[in-house]
Order: sequence, then C-alpha cells, then structure tokens
Amino acid sequence: MSLSAKYNMKSPGVKRLMREAMELANPTEEYYACPLDDNLFEWHFTVRGPPGTEFEGGCYHGRILLPSQYPMQPPNIILLTPNGRFEVNKKICLSISGHHPESWQPSWSIRTALLALIAFMPTSAAGTIGSLDYTAEERQLLARKSTNWECATCGRASERLTAAGGSPELTQEESSLLKQIALKAEEDTNRKEPNVEQKEDSPSSQTNRENPEIRQRVIPSTNDVDSSLNTADSLLQDSVDRTNKDKMWAVVIWLLLSIIILLLIRRLFFL
Ligand SMILES: [Zn+2]
Repeated sequence: MSLSAKYNMKSPGVKRLMREAMELANPTEEYYACPLDDNLFEWHFTVRGPPGTEFEGGCYHGRILLPSQYPMQPPNIILLTPNGRFEVNKKICLSISGHHPESWQPSWSIRTALLALIAFMPTSAAGTIGSLDYTAEERQLLARKSTNWECATCGRASERLTAAGGSPELTQEESSLLKQIALKAEEDTNRKEPNVEQKEDSPSSQTNRENPEIRQRVIPSTNDVDSSLNTADSLLQDSVDRTNKDKMWAVVIWLLLSIIILLLIRRLFFL
C-alpha cells in the first residue's frame, strides 16, 4: 500500500484513519474493516449478525464512506448484503451516521460505528431512513444466504471474520455509548409520532419541564457533548431551575396564607 505517498500524512483526518486502520488490522469474530487499497476514505467492512436474533449466523458486508472532514463529521454506512433490516446500496440512518451529524462525536471511530450497526440490527425499523421491516423468517433466510454472498472487491465476505474469539472487549466508554445510541434511536422514533412538541418548543411553553423523557436526557449527558447538545441541555436546565423557583414561591405563598388565616381566627375567637 503506497498510502503514505498518496496522502498528506500531516492531515489530522489521514493520520486518524491510518491509526484506525492499524487498530482494526486483525479481523475479529464480530467485525472487520479495512480501507480500499487505493482510497483511504472508503472502507469495506463485514459484521456478524448478533447471536440470539434473527440475524444470527449472518455475515453482512458493506462500505463506509468517510467525509474529508472526518473525524469532525460522521462516516456514512452502506450495506451491500441483503439483510432485511437495512436497505442495500443506501446510506443508512443510525443516530451516529451521516443522517444525524449533530449527534456524532469526533472521539468515536469506525469501530464505534460498526458496534453501533450491530447493536442496531435487532432494533425496530420504525420507518427510519433506509430501514426495512422484514419478518423474522425472511431475515433468517437472508442470514443463511449471506454467508455465500461475495463482494466484487473483497470476495466472500464471511471469510473476512475469524471463526472464534479475538474480539476486543468493549470499553466502559463504548458500552455506555451504545446505550446512548439506543436511547437516541428511541427518541428519534418518538419524534416521528403525531405530537409536534419540537415545533412548540418556544421559551414560553411550560409543558416541556413536565415531560420526564426530556428531563432524562439531562442526566446521562455528563460527558463532553457538542455545543448544540450543550445549549439544549442548558435550556432544559433553565426550565428545571424555573420549576424549583416556582415550588419555592408556592411554599412562600402557602406560609403567608396560613399566617393570615391564623391571625383571622385569633381576631374572631380570642379577642
Ligand atoms: Zn467489499
């Protein structure tokens, strides 16, 4: 590979992708990805269907397209193997892929994206972009067929994974990240439901602070989040503060009222 001759090795994106390529050089049981020989910004990957789901036994191959601003912008994932969960040859919609650039963090990686993809496979398609709602039987059939599927560039995809062992353990950060990603998917599908809360989100609307779902988001996002999330969280924090202030005033008013009533009773009965 003459990548070092072709790319500016001082570019942070190139450095980062070279590092990730080294880290991912050894196939694992669950995933494998490497850049194309002639293009560091396009990778091909193979992931194994998660055990205990209708994708068990399946091997799914696809492309990862990296924007020139990677890792400041998220990778796009395109599946090539028919799987019944994601459309093939179409950029798919994970919370952390290109359709949701606002939720991508530069500290995430291609490995993170692949782990998220595996975690997403058994979740409900719920009409998100590039999703398919096949039955379990259809998906099981596609999983069996997928082991013979061949990529024009890489050959038989299933041969790119190791048979057993060797997957690096999830780090603490990765497993908490995967939980966040799942949460984001649920929020996204909730957002598609009829109520257009998003639109009514003016500062005067008081309903938000009563919404437990929105308040939950304040708690998990203690790690460094991007500025858009930060502003959203500070808005939420504001409304939580306001709720506390309202409560304080209610207590003060109740105290004053009870003092007045006590004084009235004393006046009427004891004087
Ligand atoms: Zn390939």
